[in-house]
Amino acid sequence: MIDLKQYEIWFVTGSQHLYGPKTLETVAEHSRAIAAAFDASSHIPVKVVFKPVLTTPDAIRELCLEANSSKSCIGLITWMHTFSPAKMWIAGLTLLKKPFAHLHTQYSREIPWSTIDMDFMNLNQSAHGDREFGFIGSRLRLERKVVVGHWQDDEVQSQLGVWARAASAWADWQGAKIARFGDNMRDVAVTEGDKVEAQIKFGYDVYGYGIGDLVKAVNEANEADVEKMVQAYLDEYDVMPSLQPGGERNASLREGARIEVGMRNFLQAGNFKAFTTTFEDLHGLAQLPGLAVQRLMRDGYGFGAEGDWKTSALVRAMKVMSEGMKGGVSFMEDYTYHFSASGDKVLGAHMLEICESIAAPFGKPKLEILPLSIGGKADPVRLIFDSLTGPAIGASIMDMGQRFRMVANVVDVIPTDEPLPNLPVARALWLPRPNLKVAAAAWIYAGGAHHTSFSYSVTAEHLQDFADMAGIEFLLIDENTRVQEFKEKLRWNDLYFHLSKGL
Ligand code: MN
Repeated sequence: MIDLKQYEIWFVTGSQHLYGPKTLETVAEHSRAIAAAFDASSHIPVKVVFKPVLTTPDAIRELCLEANSSKSCIGLITWMHTFSPAKMWIAGLTLLKKPFAHLHTQYSREIPWSTIDMDFMNLNQSAHGDREFGFIGSRLRLERKVVVGHWQDDEVQSQLGVWARAASAWADWQGAKIARFGDNMRDVAVTEGDKVEAQIKFGYDVYGYGIGDLVKAVNEANEADVEKMVQAYLDEYDVMPSLQPGGERNASLREGARIEVGMRNFLQAGNFKAFTTTFEDLHGLAQLPGLAVQRLMRDGYGFGAEGDWKTSALVRAMKVMSEGMKGGVSFMEDYTYHFSASGDKVLGAHMLEICESIAAPFGKPKLEILPLSIGGKADPVRLIFDSLTGPAIGASIMDMGQRFRMVANVVDVIPTDEPLPNLPVARALWLPRPNLKVAAAAWIYAGGAHHTSFSYSVTAEHLQDFADMAGIEFLLIDENTRVQEFKEKLRWNDLYFHLSKGL
């Protein structure tokens, strides 16, 4: 359900008429070559489209308006091969509503020492042309990513690719619909927030539904579809014997399949990209949807438990950012600690809803039925697995009252010290960076949520680019974090974001 090739980045080169047509032809030729290289680059997952070289304020303005109204254009890469006086860019950049990255590169990698003359100098002047362009970006206080280096370098293409992934997720959020089955878990604070402000700021819309609307879709699930779903479970998972056909609890598996079919039908019919549930609002549903949620997340839906619409939107955004990359994305919760001499660890899990995309590739996940001590419903079916190991990141967005804040922590997921034969949920065990003491203190000072979107493929750079596009605060907790500096940053940022509205 996520296709990044539907998106285009427009490669836009600025120049002026001072140099005559011959130079401009060469500029266009070089730009076309760079755009083609980016389009073919394995680092950049979207299409990169060459646009004619811009030499007048009117042409720049027209291009920006065209980008705004284009459904496929998700942003611009700008580059000044020669000198493009930046007053020409004011009208266009002021109107531009799509993100842009400023590529500071030069067509020729090296100076041809023995042949260089003034013609070469006049053609290759991005060293100062891009500074003139950069000035107007800063003078207009525009958020953008500046990428410096030769265009053929892997690092440059990778930085642009990261930015393109963030821009894809940003485009995906615009006009996105999130279904909220039931309201917020009673009394919980951080999952609440201003949905009108979120729509203004982020572009997605949260639609509330009574649980009865979902129950109706579940009850209307076609028997043949339920049968097909049960078969898929039997094929894909290590299903415990009592749930298998003829087993005494097979009816519960069928019920789980019916819930999944009903939820899928509901979400597809309404064109939703993410959804929430809450265990306090399940009237008419036999089980808390566990397995269904795990599989819908695997297929690209964002999810938040207990009515957590902000995390559901972030899970979806990170699914888009990481499309086609190795490692998955899941809804997650910091659940239980292990304080030990070998490092203080976090056991992450949720009651049921951890995405199959982060399962370790050791055999099929187990599909089991076990009691859930919360919620007072029939025992839910769920997938149980250990997660991938390696570096990962957990991120959340909070509504701080006046504004939204994103906080993220880089962690290292490790194998559990021992097997967990009695733990009936999917889980991941990690060492937070720089360590639990610093990471948790910083997270708590920042007011970070207990729910996160957790990923092995998304990096801090993706999230930074994404937060910049959204115009929100981004706080990173990683190997360089010190609590005292972090607290100071929180204070400065409070001031900055308060004042920046007037800047
Ligand atoms: Mn929770």
